[in-house]
Amino acid sequence: MKFISFIVPCYNEEQTINIFYKQILEVMQRIDVLYEIVFINDGSKDSTAEIIRRLCKEDPSISFISLSRNFGKESAMFAGLEHAKGDAVIIIDADLQHPPALIPQLVDGWQNEKYDVVYARRINREGEPILRSWFSKKFYSIINKISDVKLVDGVVDYRIMDRKVVDSILGLRERHRFSKGLFEWAGFHSKCIEYKNVERAAGNSSWSFNKLFHYAIEGIVSFTIVPLRIATFVGILTALAAFIYMGITIIQTLLFGNSVSGYTSTISLILFFGGMHCIFLGIIGEYLGRIFNEVKHRPHYFIREHIESRVRTFEFKK
Ligand code: UDP
Ligand code: MG
Repeated sequence: MKFISFIVPCYNEEQTINIFYKQILEVMQRIDVLYEIVFINDGSKDSTAEIIRRLCKEDPSISFISLSRNFGKESAMFAGLEHAKGDAVIIIDADLQHPPALIPQLVDGWQNEKYDVVYARRINREGEPILRSWFSKKFYSIINKISDVKLVDGVVDYRIMDRKVVDSILGLRERHRFSKGLFEWAGFHSKCIEYKNVERAAGNSSWSFNKLFHYAIEGIVSFTIVPLRIATFVGILTALAAFIYMGITIIQTLLFGNSVSGYTSTISLILFFGGMHCIFLGIIGEYLGRIFNEVKHRPHYFIREHIESRVRTFEFKK
């Protein structure tokens, strides 16, 4: 029988975990597979850890990984992927925004239609702040114009991935992880399932505007060096313009003598180039900072506590 691992990153989800767990149980009763649920507690400050620990005692199919602090959803997912034992893995949010009702379709696409990946795409953004939707749309249009990966607006982390896809993703060791891009970059035979956006079951989204902005920069910088190329291009253009202007000034001085006017243009040019330099140094800095973080080779996370699921473990001794 096939074995599926759920990966559930949890950060301050004390209000949703039990509802989530019940819904998963309900759905999985109708599907003929073995499964484990890997809850990753990403340094929650509420009682998330205790709730999961309690579930672990009652249900042997639950696995609990508690990280040593909040490392972010990307790292929590990575920890889950590293510890999942299934023939396939389903990544799903704990807040029920990824409807468990889709699980049968995901599993069917993988098991019967033999897709390597079946991913979910939300077709509307209802219940989301307008400004956030607007920025998201802009982000997708920019990243698709300038990077190698093509991201579709609304595609979420909610997906089933075959073991070979999971192993490939685990082979991408970068510390700055932008999973949406990595999943897309990895390729494989994929199918999309669409669903309507649902609001959180309880609690609040942990995404602040600041975090989203960083996430967007991450997405762009991780997948393209076009911003650096833009810097080069603009540099060449402005240098060219500057040389032309220099020629004009020299000729003017030779023909008409040296007049001391030109204060405005001088100041404007200094400010313009000053600004340009700062922006492009910043862009170079974004890349340099990432190189710095990558070369340190720090682990993606630390584990403080780990309770393994006890489903079919005997079959996984590789
Ligand atoms: N999450 C996490 N670590 C974090 C932030 C979030 O593990 O630092 C989890 C969270 O518990 C949830 C999922 O990632 O299961 C999605 O988070 P959230 O609902 O805050 O994001 P949104 O749905 O608004 O994109
Ligand atoms: Mg959510």
